[in-house]
Amino acid sequence: MAASRIRVLPTAVAEAIAAGEVIERPASAVKELVENALDAGARRVSVEIEGGGIGLIRVVDDGAGMSSEELSLAFRRYATSKLVEIADLARISTFGFRGEALASIAAVAQVTAISRLPATTAASKIEVVDREPGPASPVGAGPGTSIEVRTLFYNTPARRAFLRSPRAEAAACLRVISEAVLGSPEVAFEARVDGRRVLAASGRGGLIEAARSVLGRDLGGGLLAVDRSADRITIVGVLGPPQSARPNRNSIVLMVNGRRVHQRALVAAVEGAYRGLLPVGRYPVAVLDVRCDAAEVDVNVHPTKREVRFQDESRFFEAVQRACWEVIKGAAPTRLVLAQETVPGTQPTDQQWLPAGSNVWRPGLVEAGLLGDQLPGSDAPNLLADADQWRFLGQGHNRYLVVQTRSGIALLDQHAAHEKVLYARVLSSLVDDRAEVLQPAQGLLDPILVEVGSEAVLALDGEELLLRRAGFDLAAFGETTLRCSAVPLGTRLSELRELLLEVLEPGDDGSAESDRRRHRIAASVACHSAVRFGDPMSAEEVALLLRDLSRTSGGITCPHGRPAVLTLSEGQLLAAFGRR
Ligand code: ADP
Ligand code: MG
Repeated sequence: MAASRIRVLPTAVAEAIAAGEVIERPASAVKELVENALDAGARRVSVEIEGGGIGLIRVVDDGAGMSSEELSLAFRRYATSKLVEIADLARISTFGFRGEALASIAAVAQVTAISRLPATTAASKIEVVDREPGPASPVGAGPGTSIEVRTLFYNTPARRAFLRSPRAEAAACLRVISEAVLGSPEVAFEARVDGRRVLAASGRGGLIEAARSVLGRDLGGGLLAVDRSADRITIVGVLGPPQSARPNRNSIVLMVNGRRVHQRALVAAVEGAYRGLLPVGRYPVAVLDVRCDAAEVDVNVHPTKREVRFQDESRFFEAVQRACWEVIKGAAPTRLVLAQETVPGTQPTDQQWLPAGSNVWRPGLVEAGLLGDQLPGSDAPNLLADADQWRFLGQGHNRYLVVQTRSGIALLDQHAAHEKVLYARVLSSLVDDRAEVLQPAQGLLDPILVEVGSEAVLALDGEELLLRRAGFDLAAFGETTLRCSAVPLGTRLSELRELLLEVLEPGDDGSAESDRRRHRIAASVACHSAVRFGDPMSAEEVALLLRDLSRTSGGITCPHGRPAVLTLSEGQLLAAFGRR
């Protein structure tokens, strides 16, 4: 007799699978627990993360608490105090409403919960072991709730296998907490990762203060406040000035009635407001809460509640774009437009930190002698192998180098060409950690403190050696600040903060990712230390650049894929002038 192949899953398996849809990674558990605390009216929430959230997640709040009966019920699926009838779905104002989160967490972890109603004197405690809530027992504790989650995904190895490194998971948890801070600026938050305090928000001072604690104080000072109401939509929050733009969209945090959403249309509205003010591939810093009548949005669209449906999305798009644009427009855009580029003749003086009397500061040019004849780690043929034979004819507009090649003329984008050389050098310094460090560092007599925000400070952990090979000497200095004692030679200090944010951008892990990461670090360092489009160059500097190019393998493009060199062969010139 053939065995039936269809079987009803044992409850434990079914629940673990269902839980996996709600609790995908430690950050999802943190999100649910923090939202429960906020739903309970907490004024103070503290979160502890250990071992990337696999070891421990503890969320403690001073909210409404639960009685021992409620505590025992809370871990049952579809147990919720927030929804009674279908009609309630239309006007949900709490974060949770499905009554699934605690049950889902308890299905994939060992949980200890302690809670006390403020009016009572004793707290109760229950432990959920292997999905079975134990009896409630009295304990001493302050008013509010503490939920402790240990050994997350102990029974779902597949889920566990998909997790990234503890550092990356902790960073994702921190991102969730940061968003809660921004969504509830009136609540005090504290977050610790492996015992170290990484975030503290006072709960006083509204969204600007909250954004400051999340984004770092430096940027906090430059944040532009937004508070506009029109057409029954209020938009409150902060925008970063154009020069604080980031290399990705991670710093565009949008909320609808305090709930974080990932709404393409609204992100596009914010980006649209910055159109023309940011270089390609740069994204604004924006923390905005779009407030409207709860009946105008449907929050029950996506299971992880990341998207909402507006009754009329275009109205919201317009409101966001207009609010942003009016604020940015009022913030002296003329001063900001060219932040990425130097207008010829207006050299910023960001080199005063160099040793007195030093007039050579361009790494690729001065240090070319450090390079061997071929760089390691690349077998791409060098299309510019004879560049050291080229004759420099002149510089146009402080941007383009005109050179005579063996049989024609070439034009170089000086920044892109230099970037290509530096990129190859930094990359070769990073690829093989046994090889000699090729990227020279510039020590700073007075270390600089740079405000980068807690996410970047956290991301430094474990990366110090890699970054040292790129020329940085960095150490955490408090929760949101880095102490920088050396930078890659030639780095412009005015761009240091931006550079640090780029190289500390937390990414995924795994070998493919670490490869991408090295490329990204190399590209960032190259970009921020290469001679600028707009800087005058001496004949000696150009000669060194040409020599470096001849020793750098690869094609004619810079790390961003733009051409660095345009060549016109003798044949092309003759044809163009009608001589042939
Ligand atoms: P939901 O939030 O969707 O209602 P949860 O599983 O997250 O579902 O929580 C179940 C119930 O447990 C909540 O409705 C609430 O009554 C109670 N609860 C959970 N966390 C807390 C907390 N930190 N403080 C007070 N009550 C809580
Ligand atoms: Mg909940």
